[in-house]
Amino acid sequence: MRGVETEIAIVGAGPVGATLALALERSGLSVALIEAREPRGWHRQEMDLRVFALSHAARNILTRLGAWERIAASRVSPYRAIEVWDAASSGRVCLSAAEVDEPDLGHIVEGSLLTEALLERVRAAPDIGLHAPAALERVSSEPDYAELVLDNGKHLRALLVVGADGARSRVRRFAGIELKESTYGQHAIVAHLVPEKPHGEVARQVFHPNGPLALLPLADGRVSIVWSTTPEEAERLLAVPENEFSLAATEASEAKLGTLRLASERAAFPLIRLHAQSYVAPRVVLAGDAAHVVHPLAGQGMNLGLLDAAALAETIRDGRRNGYDPDDFLVLRRYERWRHGENLAMQSAFSGFKELFGARLAPVRAFRGAGMRLFDNTPPAKRLAMRIALGIAGDLPELAKPID
Ligand SMILES: Cc1cc2nc3c(=O)[nH]c(=O)nc-3n(C[C@H](O)[C@H](O)[C@H](O)COP(=O)(O)OP(=O)(O)OC[C@H]3O[C@@H](n4cnc5c(N)ncnc54)[C@H](O)[C@@H]3O)c2cc1C
Repeated sequence: MRGVETEIAIVGAGPVGATLALALERSGLSVALIEAREPRGWHRQEMDLRVFALSHAARNILTRLGAWERIAASRVSPYRAIEVWDAASSGRVCLSAAEVDEPDLGHIVEGSLLTEALLERVRAAPDIGLHAPAALERVSSEPDYAELVLDNGKHLRALLVVGADGARSRVRRFAGIELKESTYGQHAIVAHLVPEKPHGEVARQVFHPNGPLALLPLADGRVSIVWSTTPEEAERLLAVPENEFSLAATEASEAKLGTLRLASERAAFPLIRLHAQSYVAPRVVLAGDAAHVVHPLAGQGMNLGLLDAAALAETIRDGRRNGYDPDDFLVLRRYERWRHGENLAMQSAFSGFKELFGARLAPVRAFRGAGMRLFDNTPPAKRLAMRIALGIAGDLPELAKPID
């Protein structure tokens, strides 16, 4: 092992880091997975406030890694259609699974369940060493290895360090990788609400000039909202009494599901746009939010991160079959070329939507409404949008490809 304790050290056992560790299982490479926090665990009685809309590609990855079965047996909610409309024009688009002969377009999964299902598999994998809770304090790149120092006093030598440690990645900072970062000028409020009418397993999103409001169908009949708005408005909405919040959410949803009643805590996240200028530095590679953070309006951040993990594992495995070590710069650059372009295209598209729907000028609103109506009646454009929603557009890693 070239004088190191582990060949690959993955920092961050969030969904992306844990997926990567599992995707490297039985590659013959030793893997250490380092996580700062004690995992919260999933609780049946209490629905996690953080939920993700996972695409078919993400589900395929989780199925092949043996984590989906646990998720599906615990609690998931399929969504069979996506309905998007513009509050400021007559624009409306509806994508339905039936149009592409699929039973659903994806699933809503709780964050804690996703992490727990992955970590259960990690704990059972003999060649993955889980260090948790243990935070990376610093990492240095030496000629023959990288040295990681953890906050429990442990030192670890590895050939390759993967930064899967989220948007504020320490690995990225220590590697000196430059960032392109901007704020969307919005915060996203998340909460679960009880709708008066059944959600019918449809994911809905309405665009307002201040930002979109998404209503995701939950298995218990509630909807999970992701409500992007100005920081000032978010602060106000977090502070108002419950009934006032319910009323505001009902109005913002244009009462599509009748009245909405708040039935959980409320939390808000500042929305940033971030892209690492490079995913690779000597002995370091980035994946997931450490490499890119996108607007949640299309619910794609996690999906893109899971594709990064699958693509990185595939590139490392291919390199190994051809006699290259996992820290080989050319091997890692192949991964970067593969994922950087796809992630940037998605990020730019979501930012474009945000700008387009944020425009208050009447001609832009009219164009938007007409454009959405045209799109809704153009089958090839809809089929492409559906492929993106299903996560099957672009150059997919093997783990993400459809399962017969
Ligand atoms: C409001 C909102 C709604 C969203 N909805 C969706 C959605 O519907 N669908 C979707 O696909 N995406 C969604 N996203 C995006 C999604 O949350 C992220 O893309 C995803 O969490 C990224 O996963 P990750 O594993 O890269 O990072 P994280 O989930 O941030 O995990 C990073 C891990 O690294 C650990 N860590 C950090 N620093 C250290 C350290 N120094 N040492 C050790 N460990 C460390 C952390 O504890 C954490 O466990 C949403 C985002 C927001 C803000």
